[in-house]
Amino acid sequence: MKKSIAVLPGDGIGKEVTKGAIEILEAVGQRFGHEFEFQYGEIGGSAIDNTGTPLPDKTVQVCKNSDAVLLGAVGGPKWDSVPAHSRPERGLLKIRKELDLYANLRPISFYQSLSDSSPLKKELVEGVDLLIVRELTGGLYFGKPSERVTKDGEDAVVDTLFYTKEEIRKIIELGFKLASQRKKKLTSVDKANVLESSRVWRETAEEVAKDYPDVTVEHMLVDNAAMQLIRNPKQFDVIVTENMFGDILSDEASVLTGSLGMLPSASVSKFGPSLYEPIHGSAPDIAGQNKANPIAMILSSASMLRLSFGLEEEAAAVEKAVEQVLENGLRTGDIAGSASESVTTEKMIAEIKAALLDQEAISNIMGAYA
Ligand code: NAD
Repeated sequence: MKKSIAVLPGDGIGKEVTKGAIEILEAVGQRFGHEFEFQYGEIGGSAIDNTGTPLPDKTVQVCKNSDAVLLGAVGGPKWDSVPAHSRPERGLLKIRKELDLYANLRPISFYQSLSDSSPLKKELVEGVDLLIVRELTGGLYFGKPSERVTKDGEDAVVDTLFYTKEEIRKIIELGFKLASQRKKKLTSVDKANVLESSRVWRETAEEVAKDYPDVTVEHMLVDNAAMQLIRNPKQFDVIVTENMFGDILSDEASVLTGSLGMLPSASVSKFGPSLYEPIHGSAPDIAGQNKANPIAMILSSASMLRLSFGLEEEAAAVEKAVEQVLENGLRTGDIAGSASESVTTEKMIAEIKAALLDQEAISNIMGAYA
């Protein structure tokens, strides 16, 4: 198979972990006989430095011409004083709109070998396997007006939470579809006791539920959901929610598995290329120090193989290689827990690559004896 992949490393550790994903994809190509062609684009702070804008048109074109997009992370203190409309994060919001990435899928799975890395009790997190489906191109992050204003002579500010009913229906339908392929339970998270948008959200979930009689649906207020995720995370299968609630809940849920550095995500489009990125940011506190955990990014590339290219065996091989190195005790600093030693980003990437290629050597030996 031949595929073209747009690569947007971004800023800070984004660059370090993206390099890792490319190495792993090249190893996948070598092992399974695929050709991946990488086209690079700029986004975020480094794009501001080099082109004056957080998302140059050229990057949008590179993405639109590709079969899938890999993104590192954007942002950092260097650009904190840049005007709001041209900050690095604007590049991120714009690429989501440009590619119509209406849904962000964030799977959160428990790794037995990391049970000591979670700050929660082992019996609470053991067996956690949930999927957060976050709406990505609407809500507070995109609504207009979003500005500072003067009202009755006073400084004031306004952000707008806007959704069309169709946007709500589209994401809820995806939530039901995914739940019907898993444990058949959907938790729709809203704030229907306060927000009109949430009341429409809840009504829409009830309407869509009629098309999925095999899926059990429950409605949960977002403040309760935040509490339940820590109190009893195993009760969840698929959570569907609007943009900002999903942003916050998925960072909270990352604690269940031990680190932001472990969590991949997929942002899907109905028509064009989908985009794969870790859920973490550019981590300026550790950038450039060879300390970042590359696993979230590597697992994001595995999701790309599965969801965009239909390469299930290849995706599973990458996931297995990650599990193997974790079982062997390899840890970057963020997941080291009580372990005395941690490894660098580069070492972690090299070991995952070796595990991936070793699987092939082992299966060849088994084949010879079969
Ligand atoms: P962050 O996710 O960058 O970091 C939060 C904490 O987690 C830090 O202590 C960091 O060291 C740690 N961490 C994150 N990823 C890690 C990894 N792979 N390995 C080891 N440790 C890791 O969030 P932040 O500090 O709030 O934000 C930093 C910058 O990133 C900001 O400019 C923010 O806007 C941006 N950001 C970008 C994205 C994105 O590009 N999708 C997402 C979130 C934040």
